[in-house]
Amino acid sequence: MKILVTGGAGFIGSAVVRLAVARGHRVVNLDSLTYAANLENVASVSASPLYAFEQADIRDRAALDRILAAHRPDAIMHLAAESHVDRSIDGPGAFIETNVTGTYNLLEAARAYWMGQRRPEGFRFHHISTDEVFGSLGETGQFTETTPYDPRSPYSASKAASDHLVRAWHETYGLPVVLTNCSNNYGPFHFPEKLVPVVILNALHGRPIPVYGDGGNVRDWLYVEDHADALLLVLEKGALGESYNIGGENEAKNIDLVRTICAHMDRLRPDSAPHERLITFVADRPGHDRRYAIDPTRIRTELGWRPSVTVEEGLRRTVEWYLANQGWWRPLLTRQGVGERLGTA
Ligand code: NAD
Repeated sequence: MKILVTGGAGFIGSAVVRLAVARGHRVVNLDSLTYAANLENVASVSASPLYAFEQADIRDRAALDRILAAHRPDAIMHLAAESHVDRSIDGPGAFIETNVTGTYNLLEAARAYWMGQRRPEGFRFHHISTDEVFGSLGETGQFTETTPYDPRSPYSASKAASDHLVRAWHETYGLPVVLTNCSNNYGPFHFPEKLVPVVILNALHGRPIPVYGDGGNVRDWLYVEDHADALLLVLEKGALGESYNIGGENEAKNIDLVRTICAHMDRLRPDSAPHERLITFVADRPGHDRRYAIDPTRIRTELGWRPSVTVEEGLRRTVEWYLANQGWWRPLLTRQGVGERLGTA
């Protein structure tokens, strides 16, 4: 299959690109290279004849038309987005422009391309989204595919809007779409401003490890390579017009996740004082959702998918990766606003 992956220089998109190429798919990586992108993430496949890169912005319709006409993909996997909740609170505009208007542009470009196909039934548009669109849970319950949308941050609202657009393009125009909503990802190549790398890097440098509120917010955690595997499965086998929740069945309070990472740091740096001493509770994020939990029954029973990595194993691999790959993350610390978020600026 030839797959156009948008956002393929980001965290999850690059995992999809690497896995798709490893499985013999041809991949066109379309990315505008924002502050969150890094072509190093796809360095392992960039010399492959199966791989091509196009620097383009999903808000630029003419560029999308040109790239679709030039590469003629069988599928689009749409991951390009502004993705950091805290940045969406500080500056929501970019989130509306890329996640909503950009997705609209891509849908329209995809629709025109699909309608001009000789075999339109072979084409698929896979929209990648988040469990944050469902809002916040109480102590019990899980998000299913039919949970009503209730986004509460500019980021999740922009992703919810994009999900609605994708469904509307299926119902109205018949565009062959599949959707997925996934829980929090972690793993190698995660941009340094996100929670797991912030904990690792601040622990490494002996800086305060910021934990929002009382640390009791609960998230479900999924190793990024397992997410990429699930995404390729849904692309190939998912029912058109349907959505699939993807989760790791690994619910954890933020504070417990942070303590687990600190324990790995203690093991890998036995000469350092216990890293937990660096944990510092900070004022909570406005509108911070208390609990997310994913019910992945559908993807498990209908498509036979299961995560391959436990959160213990995934976090061990991730911490070891960050310690071994300082040349990857050090240059990113000087990018736009990252120092402020890590407390290094
Ligand atoms: P990321 O921020 O690491 O990567 C996003 C990529 O999109 C970057 O390479 C960036 O350059 C590119 N991009 C941004 N704006 C663009 C534009 N206008 N045109 C072209 N490219 C643009 O994000 P991520 O964590 O890899 O998330 C990827 C997708 O998965 C997003 O849609 C996100 O909502 C979704 N998602 C993320 C998580 C998570 O835990 N990170 C969980 C569920 C779903």
